[in-house]
Amino acid sequence: MEKKYITEILHHLGEDDLPCGAVNPPIFQTSIFSFKGFDEFSTALSDETNHFLYTRGNNPTVNILEEKLAALEHAERAKLFGSGVAAIVSSISAFLKSGDHIVTVKDCYSWTSTYVTQYLARFGVEHTYVEGNDVNEIEAALKPNTKIIYLESPTTFTFKLQDLTEVSSLAKMRGVKTIIDNTWATPIYQNPIDFGIDLVVHSASKYLGGNSDVVGGVVAGSDEDVRRIFEKEFLNTGAVPDPFAAWLILRGIRTLHIRMPVHFQNAMELSRRLQKSEAVESVLYPMLESSEQYALAKKQMRGGSGLFSFKLKTRDIDRIKKFVNSLRFFRRAVSWGGYESLISPYAVSHRDPGDNVSLIRIHAGLEEIEVLSEDLDRAMKELG
Ligand SMILES: *Cc1c(COP(=O)(O)O)cnc(C)c1O
Repeated sequence: MEKKYITEILHHLGEDDLPCGAVNPPIFQTSIFSFKGFDEFSTALSDETNHFLYTRGNNPTVNILEEKLAALEHAERAKLFGSGVAAIVSSISAFLKSGDHIVTVKDCYSWTSTYVTQYLARFGVEHTYVEGNDVNEIEAALKPNTKIIYLESPTTFTFKLQDLTEVSSLAKMRGVKTIIDNTWATPIYQNPIDFGIDLVVHSASKYLGGNSDVVGGVVAGSDEDVRRIFEKEFLNTGAVPDPFAAWLILRGIRTLHIRMPVHFQNAMELSRRLQKSEAVESVLYPMLESSEQYALAKKQMRGGSGLFSFKLKTRDIDRIKKFVNSLRFFRRAVSWGGYESLISPYAVSHRDPGDNVSLIRIHAGLEEIEVLSEDLDRAMKELG
């Protein structure tokens, strides 16, 4: 595939012939597309993947974004969905039927996990969880009926990596499809298809949108695989992105290559500071030289994003609450990938957190680093 500059993709690709010389594409707020005659109408109906027919299929605003996302991920084709979860579950189910088996990394996104363990189980699909850091463990989990190895590298609370080259060559040997959630690294820092992975999924609600104002998802891969997902799942489940949502993601993605290095830099600085803090037991950020999987991180990623976690030494929930509540600039919220810094304690979402009661996830936003480090220092003092 011809190499393109990132800004060529983000700012130009698919936008050469916009009406009236517009610099930004119009929002095609239309549900249907009409035809000159019987034959054109019939052709579109017989190959909806490649035609405009109905917006629960293709839409021109959406397609511009898809062309960019495919190019960013070095893929032949991409399809945008109404959410990251919709893209994930559609990509998984397109390759499964009752009686099949899927291998999944244990610490994957919570709704992916719910889908695999509860939803798929209702339709007779078996699963095996793996830690993912050892390819032999993944090989041992494979069964004759295994159809998919589902990866998320790194996972987004525990930051565990899988070796993409090793896993993809194992999968190819055994005729198993590989799917990876690449939301954390973004295509700016990791291109799984270059390591032989078949399909890449993203929540576009995070860095691709980048402003915490839109929900969306994407899958990128070979023309054949994405067409299958489109025809078997997307059209049937109606997990459609709204043209306006696609337009917001297009607007957000224009600055992706500028935002990611700032998130990276802020996360490096904050994680290094936290490592030095007396109150902190451990810091989980794959781009720290001290990280257990640093060599692997360097091998398959060009950088890191703003999301990492750390564990406080204390297990006292009241002190942990005091720390969390005294932050002024880190907002207490789910999700991540916007301009703003966030904090999300593990114990908020897990009623029985066990030893992870003091595990806290940080999203380093685009603020000046001093604003963030002073805020954390102040909260550390509150912790006592
Ligand atoms: C948020 C997220 C998802 C789900 O995406 P939505 O757009 O919220 O549906 C999937 N994977 C990861 C890693 C995420 O962070």
